[in-house]
Amino acid sequence: MGFLTEVWAKAMFTTDTKPPDGILADAQPVQDVNTTKETNEPAPNSKETKEWGYDLYPERRGETYKTKWTRVLFGMEGKENIDRYKCEQNVYWCVKNGPLVKLMMGALRSSGCPIDLRRHISCEVCDPSVTGGYDPVLNQIVVCQNMATNKSMVHGVLTHEMIHMFDYCNNDLDFRNVEHLACTEIRAANLAHCSFLSAMMQGDAAPWSAKQAHQNCVKSKALASVLAVRNISREDAIAAVERVFPKCYADLEPIGRRIRRNSTDQQKAYMEAPLYGYDVY
Ligand SMILES: [Zn+2]
Repeated sequence: MGFLTEVWAKAMFTTDTKPPDGILADAQPVQDVNTTKETNEPAPNSKETKEWGYDLYPERRGETYKTKWTRVLFGMEGKENIDRYKCEQNVYWCVKNGPLVKLMMGALRSSGCPIDLRRHISCEVCDPSVTGGYDPVLNQIVVCQNMATNKSMVHGVLTHEMIHMFDYCNNDLDFRNVEHLACTEIRAANLAHCSFLSAMMQGDAAPWSAKQAHQNCVKSKALASVLAVRNISREDAIAAVERVFPKCYADLEPIGRRIRRNSTDQQKAYMEAPLYGYDVY
């Protein structure tokens, strides 16, 4: 099976409703790559949500996260509201102080897709395999309050997901097309995820001073993200990533540079934004 668009094309004959675009999961490294998504077998239950990644975001399915009282007794749950508050504080801090987040907000504003915090960013409880996501149906960024638990991680998630939002705003993306999906994941990994910011926080701190290491980081992150939300074979996902890699890796819009570790690149990128016509402030 190649493209999910083909699957959808078939489904379209039986329904008039617009298909979901699926959610884009900002997957944690490693475990998603190794999960049992190697076959094209449909998921046994809730096929629809699994197919498009919504199973990773229970609150996206209209369920508020339900506390299990047995776990509350053991102090394992029941702090969702505190987590949400902390998460929202971190989001607010990043919007005020995070150079890449400020740059992305400016780029989105200049592209005609300004971010309204309350409308477009949502702190939620997620599956532990993901730290964030982008929901193109609602045009919302999900920050996983149970996984992205400090400013640095939230900054990484916001930058990553804002690149998806930027691509959705500017590049006429169809997230059902696996090549489009692979491309935006490559761009997000390249510009945000594989930068030191989130790389260290999210367990992939391999030194990437070597160009090759950085490219490999981008490829493996993009692959993990594609596999997390699309029920396609690993082989097909790798093929899609490789096909679009040269073009999408070279596309540095709107940040304009790769961010190096221990550098002032974030600030430089922010300062350069007006040169690209982005309206940052
Ligand atoms: Zn992503």
